[in-house]
Amino acid sequence: MTTRRSFLHQITGSVLALSVLPRMGWAEELSPDPKTPDGPVLRVAIMGLGSYGTRVAEAMRGCTRAKLVGVISGTPAKIRQWQTTYGIPEKNCYNYETYDAIKDNPDIDAVYVITPNALHHDAVLRVAKAGKHVICEKPMAVNARQGQSMVDACKAAGVRLLVGYRMHFEPHTLEVIRMRKEGAFGSIRFFQGLSGFIIGDPTQWRLNPQLSGGGAMMDIGIYSINGSRYMIGEEPVWVTAQETKTDPVKFKEGIDETIQFQLGFPGGAVASCLSTYNLNNLDRFFLDGEKGFAELFPATGYGPIQGRTNQGELQAPVVTHQTVQMDEMAQILLEGKQPVVPVDGQEAVRDLAIIDAIYHAARTGQKVRLGAPGQV
Ligand code: NAD
Repeated sequence: MTTRRSFLHQITGSVLALSVLPRMGWAEELSPDPKTPDGPVLRVAIMGLGSYGTRVAEAMRGCTRAKLVGVISGTPAKIRQWQTTYGIPEKNCYNYETYDAIKDNPDIDAVYVITPNALHHDAVLRVAKAGKHVICEKPMAVNARQGQSMVDACKAAGVRLLVGYRMHFEPHTLEVIRMRKEGAFGSIRFFQGLSGFIIGDPTQWRLNPQLSGGGAMMDIGIYSINGSRYMIGEEPVWVTAQETKTDPVKFKEGIDETIQFQLGFPGGAVASCLSTYNLNNLDRFFLDGEKGFAELFPATGYGPIQGRTNQGELQAPVVTHQTVQMDEMAQILLEGKQPVVPVDGQEAVRDLAIIDAIYHAARTGQKVRLGAPGQV
C-alpha cells in the first residue's frame, strides 16, 4: 500500500514532485524536513539504557512526534555516551537515586521504563509521583495485583500509564484485525500462538526470578497471550496449562522453561499456545474462522512482519515498530488519540491476570476460570 507519506518519500527531491503535488492537493504535506513535527512533540526520558532501551532510542531518531530528551541510568559512563550520541543535556540526566527530582523538570513529559521486569513496579510508582506520564515495557509487572496497583497509582497522580505493546501499531497486525472485524474470516473458532527462542547466558537477569518474575511466559509467552486477545477480539474466560522442564539447573524454581496453554473465549473460540525458552523459529500466529484464516509469521519479531490470509499475501507497509509506537503514543498522551488496540495499563493487567492463571493451572492441573476484565 502506498500512503501519501510514503509516496512523498519516494519522490522527495524530484522536480516532478514540486510540479505535481500542489495540483494533487497535497501541497500541505510538502516539507523540506520530513521530521518537521505536525503537532506537539512528546519529550521522553528513557530509564534503563540496556539492549532494548538502545533499540528504542535509535528508533526514536525517526520519530516526528516523540523526542528522546533525557536518561535515567545507574552507570555514569553510559549516561555520558548517550549524551554524546543523542545530544542529551546534563540537566536531563538522572540516576536511580536522583530521578524523583524529574518532577521539577519542565522539559520532560514522560519516562519510558525499560529495566528488568521486577523493577517496573517501583519505577512506575516513583515516576507517577513525580507527575510525569509513564510508558512501561512488557511485562508491565510480575503479577496482576502489582499491575493494578500501578494503574491505580497513575490514576491517583493524574498521569497516564502506557505499555510498550509495539505490535498494537504494526500494519500487518492491524490489517488482520481490520479484516476480522469486517467478518472476512467469519466466526473465529481457533487461534494458535507460538512464542519462543533458545535463551543463552544462564547468568542473565531473565533467568533470575527476583528480577524477571518468571521465565519464558513473562518474556515471550506474553506475546501469544496478548496476541490471542487482539487477534480473536475477545477476553478469555478460562485457562488450562501444562509445564515441561528439561533443564532444571538453567531454569530454576520460579523460571518456566516451556508451558503449553489453552485459553477459552466466550464466543466459543479456543487458543492453543506454546511459550518456551528452549526452541527457536517460534514466532507464529494462526487465526482460523468458519470462512477464512490469517497467518502472521513472523508475528511479533522486530520485523519485517509477514503474513497471508485465505485472500492472499498481506500487503502492508514495513515499519520500524518502535518509531511508530512512540509517534502514536505521543498522540495518545498529548492529544487523546484512541489506538485501535488499547495500550494502557489496564490492558497489561489483563495479560498479567492471564499469566497468573496460567501459572496456577500449570501448578495444579486445574482449569482456571478468569474473572471479568478489571477484576484481579
Ligand atoms: P537489558 O539487560 O539489555 O537492559 C536492562 C537495563 O536495565 C540495563 O541497562 C541495566 O543496567 C538496567 N538495570 C537497572 N537496574 C538493574 C538491575 N538491578 N539489574 C539488572 N539491570 C538493571 O534488558 P532488555 O532486553 O533491555 O529488557 C528490558 C525490559 O524491556 C524488559 O522488561 C523486557 O521484557 C523489555 N523488552 C521489551 C521488548 C519489546 O519488544 N517490547 C524487547 C526486549 C525487551
